[in-house]
Amino acid sequence: MPSGLLRPGEPALLIDRRRRRYLIHLRTGATSDLRGGKISHDALIGQEEGGTTVSTRGERFLVVRPTLAEFVLEMPRGAQVVYPKDLGAILVAADVFPGARVLEAGTGSGALTMALLRAVGPAGRVVSYEVREDFARIAEQNITRFLGSADPLVLRRHDVYSGILPEDTPLDRIVLDLPEPWRVTEPAARALVAGGILLCYLPTVPQVVRATEALQATGAFGLVETIEILMRPWNIDSPSVRPAHRMVAHTGFLTAARRIQAGTPVVPLASTDEGETGVEDSPR
Ligand code: SAH
Repeated sequence: MPSGLLRPGEPALLIDRRRRRYLIHLRTGATSDLRGGKISHDALIGQEEGGTTVSTRGERFLVVRPTLAEFVLEMPRGAQVVYPKDLGAILVAADVFPGARVLEAGTGSGALTMALLRAVGPAGRVVSYEVREDFARIAEQNITRFLGSADPLVLRRHDVYSGILPEDTPLDRIVLDLPEPWRVTEPAARALVAGGILLCYLPTVPQVVRATEALQATGAFGLVETIEILMRPWNIDSPSVRPAHRMVAHTGFLTAARRIQAGTPVVPLASTDEGETGVEDSPR
């Protein structure tokens, strides 16, 4: 993980008094134009993060390394990214663990890829399929910029609807952020280890219904569950202590399913209210 003094090649986040954020990529000898003033990268390189710098226009900025969430929101995008509020939930719903072998499709801008890479760690493996060459290139640049290297990632220009490549199997987890995941349920069932997890990230209800029905129809998936994450930021500035006026109201639904043995008698194959939120063990 990045630590110590700021180095060339790293991203840095500059934040002004009104909390506006500017992401820069530190390079020796370079300058960035910020709000009509210039910032010399050489003045930042070799400094500890958490300090401030002043532009040639006299404006002061706080300088930190971006967190994953900050980087994802500011980095160049090809495709729409998975929002930070959903990244954490995806890692838990798909139970992505250190050492896991994970397949992702599509790579998009690489936001989810970075979260997966961090979660699997150096002993794991993330294979990511993307059909669009231009998106794959943006993703690769984002990933190497933020993580320093793309290890242990394998990026492939491949259409997952045409199948999962044998060299990428077996898989512990599959995460799909693309429009028609139901076209992948059969190959996913063959590629996943027993007990493995498939997770689909989908923006609309008809897609969730179709994916759920396709997962159940294979007979190879159980415990199909859908959740959405609502995150409401708060303003803590006494006496104004209240929810923020604006929030991200909708992004996507998370539908996860467990690879079970084919022919397993129908126990809890679908999500039911009783299983998850029954009175006896309802969350407090
Ligand atoms: N999760 C990504 C965003 C993915 S957007 C992120 O967080 O940045 C969906 C991506 O899936 C797009 O880039 C699209 O080109 C890609 N895609 C769509 N269909 C695909 C397919 N059949 N195989 C591989 N990639 C696909």
